[in-house]
Amino acid sequence: MKKMAIKLLASSIYNHHKTVNPFEVCKALDIETVFIPMPLKLKGYTTEKYRVKLIYINNRYPEVEQQFICLHELGHILCKHEDNILFNQLYTYHRNSKEENEANIFATYFILSKYSAEQLSGFTVSQISQLTGIDEKHLYLIYD
Ligand SMILES: [Zn+2]
Repeated sequence: MKKMAIKLLASSIYNHHKTVNPFEVCKALDIETVFIPMPLKLKGYTTEKYRVKLIYINNRYPEVEQQFICLHELGHILCKHEDNILFNQLYTYHRNSKEENEANIFATYFILSKYSAEQLSGFTVSQISQLTGIDEKHLYLIYD
Protein backbone atom coordinates (compact mmCIF):
# COMPACT_ATOMS: atom_id res chain seq x y z
CA MET A 1 0.00 0.00 0.00
CA LYS A 2 1.23 3.47 -0.83
CA LYS A 3 2.13 5.85 1.96
CA MET A 4 -0.52 8.39 0.90
CA ALA A 5 -3.20 5.70 0.88
CA ILE A 6 -2.19 4.66 4.40
CA LYS A 7 -2.30 8.31 5.50
CA LEU A 8 -5.84 8.66 4.14
CA LEU A 9 -6.87 5.40 5.78
CA ALA A 10 -5.50 6.50 9.17
CA SER A 11 -7.14 9.92 9.04
CA SER A 12 -10.47 8.49 7.91
CA ILE A 13 -10.43 6.02 10.83
CA TYR A 14 -9.58 8.88 13.20
CA ASN A 15 -12.23 11.22 11.76
CA HIS A 16 -14.87 8.52 11.83
CA HIS A 17 -14.30 7.38 15.40
CA LYS A 18 -13.27 10.73 16.85
CA THR A 19 -10.87 9.15 19.29
CA VAL A 20 -7.14 8.66 19.43
CA ASN A 21 -7.60 5.71 21.75
CA PRO A 22 -6.78 2.64 19.62
CA PHE A 23 -8.53 0.29 22.06
CA GLU A 24 -11.81 2.17 21.55
CA VAL A 25 -11.33 2.10 17.79
CA CYS A 26 -10.83 -1.68 17.91
CA LYS A 27 -13.98 -2.09 19.98
CA ALA A 28 -15.96 -0.04 17.45
CA LEU A 29 -14.57 -2.21 14.64
CA ASP A 30 -15.44 -5.46 16.49
CA ILE A 31 -11.80 -6.34 16.96
CA GLU A 32 -11.02 -7.80 20.37
CA THR A 33 -7.95 -6.68 22.24
CA VAL A 34 -6.34 -9.14 24.62
CA PHE A 35 -3.66 -8.03 27.07
CA ILE A 36 -1.30 -10.75 28.20
CA PRO A 37 2.31 -11.00 29.31
CA MET A 38 4.60 -12.34 26.58
CA PRO A 39 8.35 -12.55 26.07
CA LEU A 40 9.58 -8.98 25.46
CA LYS A 41 10.77 -9.65 21.92
CA LEU A 42 7.15 -10.27 20.98
CA LYS A 43 5.16 -7.04 21.23
CA GLY A 44 1.89 -8.24 19.82
CA TYR A 45 0.20 -10.18 17.07
CA THR A 46 -3.10 -10.57 15.33
CA THR A 47 -5.11 -13.71 14.90
CA GLU A 48 -8.61 -14.74 13.96
CA LYS A 49 -10.89 -17.11 15.81
CA TYR A 50 -14.38 -18.00 14.56
CA ARG A 51 -14.20 -14.98 12.22
CA VAL A 52 -13.48 -12.64 15.12
CA LYS A 53 -10.22 -10.75 14.83
CA LEU A 54 -8.12 -10.57 17.95
CA ILE A 55 -5.14 -8.39 18.71
CA TYR A 56 -2.84 -9.75 21.40
CA ILE A 57 -0.82 -7.09 23.16
CA ASN A 58 2.12 -7.71 25.44
CA ASN A 59 1.11 -5.98 28.67
CA ARG A 60 4.67 -6.00 29.96
CA TYR A 61 5.20 -2.84 27.89
CA PRO A 62 4.17 0.60 29.18
CA GLU A 63 0.71 1.93 28.26
CA VAL A 64 1.93 4.31 25.52
CA GLU A 65 3.84 1.46 23.89
CA GLN A 66 0.79 -0.82 24.16
CA GLN A 67 -1.23 1.79 22.28
CA PHE A 68 1.36 1.85 19.51
CA ILE A 69 1.41 -1.96 19.38
CA CYS A 70 -2.37 -1.97 19.08
CA LEU A 71 -2.25 0.59 16.24
CA HIS A 72 0.50 -1.36 14.52
CA GLU A 73 -1.61 -4.53 14.59
CA LEU A 74 -4.69 -2.57 13.51
CA GLY A 75 -2.57 -1.32 10.61
CA HIS A 76 -1.91 -4.93 9.56
CA ILE A 77 -5.64 -5.66 9.64
CA LEU A 78 -6.74 -2.51 7.81
CA CYS A 79 -3.95 -2.74 5.21
CA LYS A 80 -5.16 -6.32 4.60
CA HIS A 81 -1.98 -8.10 5.56
CA GLU A 82 -3.94 -11.13 6.68
CA ASP A 83 -2.83 -13.64 4.08
CA ASN A 84 0.20 -14.84 5.94
CA ILE A 85 -1.04 -14.48 9.50
CA LEU A 86 -1.25 -18.20 10.09
CA PHE A 87 2.19 -18.83 8.70
CA ASN A 88 3.68 -16.14 10.85
CA GLN A 89 1.80 -17.25 13.89
CA LEU A 90 3.01 -20.80 13.57
CA TYR A 91 6.57 -20.22 12.51
CA THR A 92 8.11 -16.88 13.00
CA TYR A 93 5.84 -14.24 14.51
CA HIS A 94 7.46 -11.96 11.96
CA ARG A 95 6.15 -10.58 8.75
CA ASN A 96 8.05 -9.16 5.84
CA SER A 97 9.55 -5.77 6.45
CA LYS A 98 7.37 -4.04 3.84
CA GLU A 99 4.29 -4.99 5.84
CA GLU A 100 6.00 -4.05 9.10
CA ASN A 101 6.75 -0.60 7.68
CA GLU A 102 3.18 -0.17 6.46
CA ALA A 103 1.80 -1.08 9.89
CA ASN A 104 4.17 1.40 11.56
CA ILE A 105 3.26 4.08 9.02
CA PHE A 106 -0.43 3.52 9.78
CA ALA A 107 0.18 3.80 13.55
CA THR A 108 2.28 6.93 13.10
CA TYR A 109 -0.23 8.70 10.85
CA PHE A 110 -3.05 7.73 13.18
CA ILE A 111 -1.37 9.33 16.19
CA LEU A 112 -0.50 12.41 14.11
CA SER A 113 -4.14 12.76 12.98
CA LYS A 114 -5.04 14.77 16.06
CA TYR A 115 -2.41 17.41 15.24
CA SER A 116 -2.97 19.99 12.53
CA ALA A 117 -0.29 20.66 9.92
CA GLU A 118 0.23 24.12 11.48
CA GLN A 119 0.82 22.61 14.92
CA LEU A 120 3.71 20.57 13.57
CA SER A 121 5.14 22.95 10.99
CA GLY A 122 8.69 24.09 11.59
CA PHE A 123 9.30 21.31 14.10
CA THR A 124 12.20 18.89 13.74
CA VAL A 125 11.58 15.15 13.81
CA SER A 126 13.05 15.05 17.29
CA GLN A 127 10.68 17.78 18.52
CA ILE A 128 7.69 16.04 16.95
CA SER A 129 8.81 12.84 18.66
CA GLN A 130 8.84 14.60 22.04
CA LEU A 131 5.47 16.25 21.42
CA THR A 132 3.67 13.14 20.19
CA GLY A 133 5.49 10.32 21.94
CA ILE A 134 6.13 8.65 18.58
CA ASP A 135 9.53 6.99 18.23
CA GLU A 136 11.83 8.92 15.87
CA LYS A 137 12.49 5.81 13.78
CA HIS A 138 8.77 5.62 13.05
CA LEU A 139 8.55 9.31 12.21
CA TYR A 140 11.39 8.86 9.71
CA LEU A 141 9.17 6.39 7.84
CA ILE A 142 6.89 9.27 6.91
CA TYR A 143 9.23 12.26 6.94
CA ASP A 144 11.83 11.18 4.46
ZN1 LIG B 1 3.84 -6.25 12.60
